[in-house]
Amino acid sequence: MTISEIQNALEEWHEANFPDATPEDMLIGVAEEVGELAHANLKRRQLQMPELIEKEKDAVGDIVLFLMNYCNLMGWDIRELTEKTWEEVRERDYQQVRAVYRAAEEEKL
Ligand SMILES: [Mg+2]
Repeated sequence: MTISEIQNALEEWHEANFPDATPEDMLIGVAEEVGELAHANLKRRQLQMPELIEKEKDAVGDIVLFLMNYCNLMGWDIRELTEKTWEEVRERDYQQVRAVYRAAEEEKL
């Protein structure tokens, strides 16, 4: 399935299951799932429990679905927004930014 197909299917499912939900409810969902992701990541490393990676993957999927629902309720196309941002980000050269920043810092010394 493409991102757009999932976003469209999710809209129907969401309307049938949570007709009164607001965009803010979706934001709370994103925040809750980011917390779950951070928790699983931290515990996987602290407790050396590699199996928690599955919870991290699950949280990432939930975050994307909540964001899609947020976009649906706002009337936005998540693929379009992601492509637009990607086109901007891909042009950034952080090696260059770091080199310029380092040169400026060295000048101050
Ligand atoms: Mg979850």
